[in-house]
Amino acid sequence: MIKNLSFWEQEFMTQNIDFAILGAGIVGLSTAFFLKNKFPESKIVVFERQFPGLGASTKNAGFACIGSPTEILSDLDSIGEQATIDLIKMRWNGLKLLQEVVNPDKMDFGNLGSKELFVNQESKDIATTELTYLNQIMEEATLIPDVFRIVKNTETIGLQDIAIHCDLESQLNPMLMMDELYKKVLRTGVLVNYGAAVKQIIPETGTMVVEDGAEISPKQLIVCTNGMAMDLLDIEDLRAVRNQVLMTKPLCSLPLSGNYHVDRGYIYFRTYGNRLLIGGARNIDTDTETCSTFGDNQKIITFLKAFVKDHLYQADDLEYDTQWSGILGVGSSKQPIIRAISDYTTIAVRLGGMGVAIGTGVGNKVAEMITA
Ligand SMILES: Cc1cc2nc3c(=O)[nH]c(=O)nc-3n(C[C@H](O)[C@H](O)[C@H](O)COP(=O)(O)OP(=O)(O)OC[C@H]3O[C@@H](n4cnc5c(N)ncnc54)[C@H](O)[C@@H]3O)c2cc1C
Repeated sequence: MIKNLSFWEQEFMTQNIDFAILGAGIVGLSTAFFLKNKFPESKIVVFERQFPGLGASTKNAGFACIGSPTEILSDLDSIGEQATIDLIKMRWNGLKLLQEVVNPDKMDFGNLGSKELFVNQESKDIATTELTYLNQIMEEATLIPDVFRIVKNTETIGLQDIAIHCDLESQLNPMLMMDELYKKVLRTGVLVNYGAAVKQIIPETGTMVVEDGAEISPKQLIVCTNGMAMDLLDIEDLRAVRNQVLMTKPLCSLPLSGNYHVDRGYIYFRTYGNRLLIGGARNIDTDTETCSTFGDNQKIITFLKAFVKDHLYQADDLEYDTQWSGILGVGSSKQPIIRAISDYTTIAVRLGGMGVAIGTGVGNKVAEMITA
């Protein structure tokens, strides 16, 4: 809430704004960064309800990923070849741009690769049969040949004996990524107003009404609240869905390294030091997980814990440290929605499960679209 502001504060934070950006996630801050580069004299203020943001950008799993074999096959089925290549390209180029904006060392960026693991023979057979085709698709998108290769799976229990490895995937620490991005944005002269919860948007005028009733009317408003935009605007084909994550305590003998994908990316896990992070499985309870409210889902937690016990770690020291959820924005298409919805309001939402990869590029695209 923007409560009890002095005249000076009001004038500084809420008036004569050229570009107001709602949401300080990766998209909002990237948009602010690129817009300020394009219009250095403009007054840009990012409005966000709490520090460091309450969405997904600091709550995600930190996979810098471009797509697992079964995920890509599923995309090929649903959106066709060219759109799938474009999607992979968007992720690959987005990750390159992210590393230009945020120094990789400052966000713990590590190129540890990834593996797709298979729960049954059928999914393994489909993915391995299509390997040559998948590599052609990947090469078109990244210009790198033979990205996927078959390797032995010796790290897990009761899953198929082979996995598909990808060298191109990396991992990072999302909180460090956002902290660096935030500092970089501040250095450009953009203001970030944490504590501004917006309860209404009037798209026709680009006006935001904050929880205490204060109205903010910038020359242009850019809404970067991902799935939560549906609480404020009527946007076709956008749903907010919750995603669960669990983190173990440090484990004594963890034989895993890098990113792991299972079942089209619905289940994912990685290591962080000698801890195991596992998340996802929202497809096992879609009714409950279609929402923009935070909270834990016991059915999913039980499922993920059983997956760990059955397949990943059976030593006695397995204990969980913490669990949390984040909110995604999804729809029938995996393409983000970036468009002006009036002369005064633009939206950049629906980042799906790949906002780390494409968020910086989405911000850049918004800045390219916007005219003064
Ligand atoms: C658990 C989880 C794991 C994920 N793992 C990965 C991964 O490994 N790799 C990957 O690429 N992607 C991953 N994602 C997806 C990725 O995190 C998101 O796509 C990305 O962070 C979206 O960024 P954003 O800036 O669009 O939205 P957000 O980061 O959600 O930012 C939106 C901001 O808007 C603010 N806001 C919303 N409504 C209001 C309001 N009314 N008033 C004021 N402020 C408001 C919120 O507080 C929030 O800070 C994951 C997501 C989740 C939830």
